Amino acid sequence: MRFAEVGYRDCPWCKTRNIALNVQWSRVEQADSGKQRFWGVFTCPRCAGAVLVEVKPATGANLTSYSEINRGLNVFVMKQVPEDGNRAHEIAHLPEDVEGFFRDAEVVLGAGVPDAAAVQLRKTLEAAAAHKGIRERTLVQSIQKLIEDGAVTVDFSEVLHYVRKLGNLGAHFTDEKLTEDDVQRALRFTAQLLRNLFEVPGELELLKTASEEADAGTE
Ligand SMILES: [Zn+2]
Repeated sequence: MRFAEVGYRDCPWCKTRNIALNVQWSRVEQADSGKQRFWGVFTCPRCAGAVLVEVKPATGANLTSYSEINRGLNVFVMKQVPEDGNRAHEIAHLPEDVEGFFRDAEVVLGAGVPDAAAVQLRKTLEAAAAHKGIRERTLVQSIQKLIEDGAVTVDFSEVLHYVRKLGNLGAHFTDEKLTEDDVQRALRFTAQLLRNLFEVPGELELLKTASEEADAGTE
């Protein structure tokens, strides 16, 4: 997302969902070691609460230290202070479309509409599989393929019935509606799967880059 869009989030103070927080300050900070970190302070127009957000440029571009962050810069959100108590599932390195579906699922579940949340979870999983080049006929087959390919751990095969429920949703008008508990479990399943698919490889990539930089520094 662009840095200007980072302000669209849930306010951790007044719990208003998906409100446009105002950017008040941003900075490319530099440590003595030369390492850069990227910070923004946002405020809530509703409750005047301030929120500190650390981001990371989507590209490895080196920015001018001590400057402001360009609002058009593509970034990932790394962390938020204070954390959002409602958002139990902060996952790093999510592709934008996957993140959009997943956040929508959380929002509509929070609003008490489990069926609508389940549809968003299904889209989340379909988009996640598509990012790994997998588009099988059914959602369960796509997830099974991710397991076979080793993109996610085989432990997920034990709990595939949550995916089967999501995949069947809306297929027959006689289908049982999903309960809020069903959808909560499917949400937890989805969060873990997304961590396995995107957060773990993304963090390992950062570790690799950091150790390459450290090696280059010792030469
Ligand atoms: Zn607020």
